[in-house]
Amino acid sequence: MRLRNITGSREVIGRSRYVIQEPEQYPGKWKEEFGNCHPVYAEIGMGKGRFLTDMARSHPDINFVGIEKYSSVLLRAVQKMETLEASGDFLPNVRFIRMEAEDITKVFGEGELDRIYLNFSDPWPKERHAKRRLPSRQFLERYDRVLKRDGVIEFKTDNRALFDFAVDECRAAGWKALELTYDLHADERLCRENVMTEYEERFSAQGNPICKYMVCR
Ligand code: SAH
Repeated sequence: MRLRNITGSREVIGRSRYVIQEPEQYPGKWKEEFGNCHPVYAEIGMGKGRFLTDMARSHPDINFVGIEKYSSVLLRAVQKMETLEASGDFLPNVRFIRMEAEDITKVFGEGELDRIYLNFSDPWPKERHAKRRLPSRQFLERYDRVLKRDGVIEFKTDNRALFDFAVDECRAAGWKALELTYDLHADERLCRENVMTEYEERFSAQGNPICKYMVCR
C-alpha cells in the first residue's frame, strides 16, 4: 500500500464511530461492542477496506473487524464508511482498528474470532524478514490463540512465493487445508462466493492468477 502522510488522518480516525480507540480494553468484550452474539471475522491488513465492507453488507449476521497499521490507509476506509452512511447505507457490523498485527492477542481474547482473512499481505521477500510475514509460524501461533477451536484462516495472494510460504508454515504447524487453489478465478465453485479485494482486482486485471488457501486446525 502506498504510503503518504495525510494531515489530520489521526484526528478523523480518533473521532470515528467505526474505529475502536482503545483496543487493548477489548479482549472479552467484542459481543458487547457489537451488541449481539454473531461470529466475528477479522481481516488483517485490510487496506482501504473494500473487501471488509462488501462482506459486511452481504453478511449482516457476521461482525467484521478490519485491522490496518497505517492511519493514512485506514483513513480511506473510514471515509468510505462515512460516505456510505450519508447515503443511508449504514453497516452496524463493521469496526476498524489501527494497530500492528503483532499485537492481535492484546485485542482479542482466547477464541473470540471465528475467522481471519489475510488478503494480499506484504511479501517481505528477504529471508531474514520471514517472521514479519503475516502467515509466518510466529503469527500462526498468535492466530491460534484468538481463533475459536474450529476457526478458519483464509489467504489470498497473487504472490506465489508468499503463498508457498503460507502453505509450508501451515502444514508444519499442523493446520489442515480446507481449500487450496493456484487459480481462484478459474475455479467455478470457489469463484461463486468470492468477494474481490482491491489488490485482487488490480493484480488479476494484470493477468496474475490468484491463489487461495483456507485452513483450520
Ligand atoms: N487486503 C487489502 C490490502 C492489501 S495491501 C487488499 O487485498 O486489497 C496490505 C495491507 O496490509 C497494507 O494496507 C498494509 O499497510 C497492511 N499491513 C501490512 N502489514 C501489517 C501488519 N503487520 N499489521 C497491520 N497491517 C498491516
